[in-house]
Amino acid sequence: MPEEIAQRRTFAIISHPDAGKTTMTEKLLLHGKAIQVAGTVKGRKNTKHATSDWMEMEKQRGISVTTSVMQFPYHDCTVNLLDTPGHEDFSEDTYRTLTAVDSALMMIDAAKGVEARTIKLLDVCRLRTTPILTFINKLDRDTRDPIELLDEVEDVLKIKCAPVTWPIGMGKYFKGVYHLLNDEIILYEGGHGHERHDYRRIKGLDSAESREAIGSETVDEIIDEIELVQGASHEFDLDMFLKGELTPVYFGTAMGNFGIDHFLDDFVKIAPPPQPRETEDRMVQAGEQTMTGFVFKIQANMDPQHRDRIAFMRICSGQYTKSLKMRHVRLKRDIQIANALTFMAGDRQHLEEAWAGDIIGLHNHGNIQIGDTFTVGEDLKFKGIPNFAPELFKRIRLRDPLKNKALQKGLIELSEEGATQVFRPLNSNELIVGAVGVLQFDVVAHRLKAEYKAEAIYEGVNVATARWVECDDPKKFEEFKKKCFDNLALDGADNLAYIAPTRVNLSLTEERWPEVRFFATREH
Ligand code: GDP
Repeated sequence: MPEEIAQRRTFAIISHPDAGKTTMTEKLLLHGKAIQVAGTVKGRKNTKHATSDWMEMEKQRGISVTTSVMQFPYHDCTVNLLDTPGHEDFSEDTYRTLTAVDSALMMIDAAKGVEARTIKLLDVCRLRTTPILTFINKLDRDTRDPIELLDEVEDVLKIKCAPVTWPIGMGKYFKGVYHLLNDEIILYEGGHGHERHDYRRIKGLDSAESREAIGSETVDEIIDEIELVQGASHEFDLDMFLKGELTPVYFGTAMGNFGIDHFLDDFVKIAPPPQPRETEDRMVQAGEQTMTGFVFKIQANMDPQHRDRIAFMRICSGQYTKSLKMRHVRLKRDIQIANALTFMAGDRQHLEEAWAGDIIGLHNHGNIQIGDTFTVGEDLKFKGIPNFAPELFKRIRLRDPLKNKALQKGLIELSEEGATQVFRPLNSNELIVGAVGVLQFDVVAHRLKAEYKAEAIYEGVNVATARWVECDDPKKFEEFKKKCFDNLALDGADNLAYIAPTRVNLSLTEERWPEVRFFATREH
């Protein structure tokens, strides 16, 4: 593997809202020297609360185009941090982003422990056995017992915990951490939340210096506790970590900017470089000579006049150089991409070269879809970029019927972007919008109006769930299609789906047609 690739680390942060992902991101960038003072990354916080205010949401989404991918150097490595939307209504976006990383950092609020979204996101990471690192946050507050927290992670998330650092005190009495692998105490000091700071380190646990710094009583307590912890938990094991079976655990405070640097020091050492990725025909190794990549996300920019959309491509192998001629495999066409983008915090720049593990931005004028593969000549198709069956459905209707063409076009393009899904029943001219989260409906209505000049309204529709259908037996399939005609629809990419008025109806239909396969996810 060329050195440039071996030095890449591409990861995302997964957490339940409010655990501290945004704060952590900012502090990582601070340590990566991508920003000089924390507080300069624009918060995307409002997305969570502005359920009714989609104008604001669009603005926030626009801003996050630049913060979707953040690249920064750390030691000898180039780190790519992929942002994921905080709001669960955009969880599809998050799931797809997780297909583009090689490891993930799980943030846990030390007062709350494992929360609902953490569980779900970890399950998604498991689909590809992504190695997980854990940061237990907010030690500057009163927390739950750390041993209990690790037990909870092990029980609920079914992953072994190897504490690498261990907290000394908490809340008002938070003194710092003991680094079990380096055998040193790192002392916490308030007031450095917004700047890089070298915290004082003391070698060993039991020393005159440590007793002077944190008090003899505390040292005695912590010696006992560490002994207990070492007995009860797992030792760090690189191999098990890489297999996703064990997670190294760090304690700290993102807000207080403590725990981030020693986390990063270890992260660049243990997190894996770009991993092989599966295509329909073969595995692609990151170190292969020629470039390959896949698109996992498309994002619209703010300026509605320009309809500037960026496709995010993960490079899976080789090197991208400016003006490389790439093959758009689905379209069977070679295209030259001169102005790919790279992303720095709050900024985007034109790119001269990029390597496997990097994410590059391609301007999309409508011919790139989520899941598209790019290569240099070879006909490959990367696997595992999912579409999820929507859970929520609405019929969409125009205020001005003359705009029907614009509406159709808009809905299909927005579904290619992954903003929503559209279903066109075979038995009518209706258009049904399917979403995983409620906010997606608002975004789509807003964007249809702003970008396609199609003002649409939603109406209730009697659909409970949808499944993509396939069948190996063409005769049986024809029979199925005929019998179930009124429940069949085409999605944005012309795939056939069964839209069920109730879940009971779906189960009955599945039972009645054992030859037909019903899929809750579809690969792009
Ligand atoms: P996100 O929803 O996961 O992105 O969480 P944020 O980073 O926005 O953090 C949620 C809230 O927790 C904010 O008010 C942060 O200021 C606060 N927060 C984050 N990290 C810490 C921490 O280490 N200590 C304390 N006390 N608060 C924190």
